[in-house]
Amino acid sequence: MQIEVRNLNKSFGDFHAVRNVSFNVEKGHLIGLLGPSGGGKTSILRMLAGLESPSSGDIVFEGKRVNELPPQERGIGFVFQNYALFKHMTVFDNVAFGLKVKKQAKERIRARVMELIELTGLKGFEHRYPHQLSGGQRQRVAFARALAPEPQLLLLDEPFAAIDAKIRQELRSWLKDMIERLGITSIFVTHDQDEAIEVADEIMIISKGRLEQKGTPWDIYKNPQTQFVASFIGESTIVEDVSKLKGFANATSWPDTKALIRPEYIEVGRLSEFRIPSATERGRVKHIHFRGSEWLVEVEVGSNLLITYRSLEKDILHPGEEVSVLVHRAYLFNESDSWIMENA
Ligand code: ATP
Repeated sequence: MQIEVRNLNKSFGDFHAVRNVSFNVEKGHLIGLLGPSGGGKTSILRMLAGLESPSSGDIVFEGKRVNELPPQERGIGFVFQNYALFKHMTVFDNVAFGLKVKKQAKERIRARVMELIELTGLKGFEHRYPHQLSGGQRQRVAFARALAPEPQLLLLDEPFAAIDAKIRQELRSWLKDMIERLGITSIFVTHDQDEAIEVADEIMIISKGRLEQKGTPWDIYKNPQTQFVASFIGESTIVEDVSKLKGFANATSWPDTKALIRPEYIEVGRLSEFRIPSATERGRVKHIHFRGSEWLVEVEVGSNLLITYRSLEKDILHPGEEVSVLVHRAYLFNESDSWIMENA
């Protein structure tokens, strides 16, 4: 289903929860709504579902305005974070629920339910009750149930939030594959940036009711358009006073400019290792954190600037050690603009 949202607003009393949000979604795309808690992601999803009505703006599915259409007539499937399965019903009956409501013929229901049970890898579990399943299996039942009536749009609200880290990882790639195979337009809410980056074709960053940026995960990471997006996606250090950074002296001619530095734009080593020592900062290793496949090294530069950098090697640096820091590039921001600058 092709979706168009124009100037969407939602107020709860005096509180303006969704502010002038506009976007399009192409048919078959998987979109992640990402942002901090309370930003308005769920409110947007609920308005698309018809569970909440917009204060103003238009929601258009396949060229048709659906603002007044009740949820059951919108052709959507909904998956919630807490599964919302019917506890007293078997897996089979849970999946069949939407089809029974539509009063489909018994044989047809049976064929469709078994097809979905197969698709979601639940064969052999059809007679179990939700309490006899693991979290991951329950969430797959919830997917199967949402997909049974052949929705044109699948809406998922934090679908992996209640699931253990390891299973969550498996379920994410499973969901991505399944949605690609079915070609169903899907929108999911998450506050987990890794999840959004890994799963979504496109991410929409939502904060304080506004759509900050929409784009592919790569585009958002590489070309953040606001300071909020740059600091929300990926790891970074914000430098309040750019004049502190060697090689970025030009930036000081723009007022109120801050710099944002990604760990991969930094080289840290012993002073003798750098070809142009004058371009480097003096620093001291403060902390080293082990992250499984890599080390995060925090280096103190000057009196109050802490720069984070990533290393794949152990034992090259130690806390307390004097080092040189070369910042290759930085994102610069002020009130009205953002741009990328390389070390001069
Ligand atoms: P989370 O990740 O915590 O679910 P979210 O980005 O999905 O956050 P929403 O659930 O859309 O955010 O909420 C946006 C804001 O609107 C919040 O401040 C919330 O308290 C408020 N809000 C949501 N629903 C209602 C309601 N029915 N009545 C009053 N305020 C509401």
